[in-house]
Amino acid sequence: MQLIGIDIGGTKISVCLGDSEGRILSSRRIATQPLGGGAQGLPAIAHEIEKLQVNWDEIAAIGISSPGPVSTKEGIMLAPPNLKGWERAPLVSFFADRFQRNVFMNHDAKAAALAEYLFGHAKGTANLVYLTTSTGMGGGAIVNGRLIQGASDTATEVGHYILDPNGPVCPCGQRGCFEAFCGGAVLAQRMQKEIQLNQIDTAVLHEAKGDLAKIDATCLIRAVKKSDPYALTIWSEFIERLAQGIGIVLMAFNPEAIILGTMAKHAGDHLFDPLKQALPRFAWKEPLAACRIEASQLQALSELSGIAVALTGIR
Ligand SMILES: [Zn+2]
Repeated sequence: MQLIGIDIGGTKISVCLGDSEGRILSSRRIATQPLGGGAQGLPAIAHEIEKLQVNWDEIAAIGISSPGPVSTKEGIMLAPPNLKGWERAPLVSFFADRFQRNVFMNHDAKAAALAEYLFGHAKGTANLVYLTTSTGMGGGAIVNGRLIQGASDTATEVGHYILDPNGPVCPCGQRGCFEAFCGGAVLAQRMQKEIQLNQIDTAVLHEAKGDLAKIDATCLIRAVKKSDPYALTIWSEFIERLAQGIGIVLMAFNPEAIILGTMAKHAGDHLFDPLKQALPRFAWKEPLAACRIEASQLQALSELSGIAVALTGIR
């Protein structure tokens, strides 16, 4: 059985042809920004799908992984903060009309949780949480083998659990969200400001080739690996908040596995060693002992997210 997967992201959009075993048979990527918005973007995505070598008789469904917030009932993207012009883009109806196939969609973090559950290292783990640690933060939870969706698609918005009501403002507008402490974009902005204001000489800036605007979370991680003092200060605060957020996830879901995304992949033991030391202060020992916490090992997570949504939809 073959499926089409679509992953819409802030910087790139991927389309792929895959199968129910999680094999990607062909894929294409395009940049999001030049498309302007949904009106031009949706036909452009369809055009990329047409360039995949697809035998439509074999295609069981199309699955879409979309930035949140979304309405799965209406089959639309709502008002994603990083995607201007895509407000209320009619994802499901557009592709259903165009290709005459069943189309399913979900929020990207939930789609990633499905991909981990169906194809990842923790495949088949009945209680699993996926946590995006990237530019922004999101989460998806599988409980007793089923994805938690919530009444209005916002269950497991882990990135916006409030860790400190007096904390920094989050891109979502609330104060002190998990993402306001640990999201890659927020961390980058904080470092840019502090380094400029205090004229800090740090490997973080060197990793960005001296260009403040190019500082991001990967610069931080590389500087941490070089034991840069400023980077280590930021990192220890990051780890403390990460442990606080993951502690809530452990206590809420008691999962057998928590899979972490991008930043954990890049940081490896520099993240997991101090995180595991900090966690006993934020969760009981029973859920901690029952859970393994690891980085995602899926190479093609974007592509597989769409495929996982399609496969879950038809099951
Ligand atoms: Zn928030």
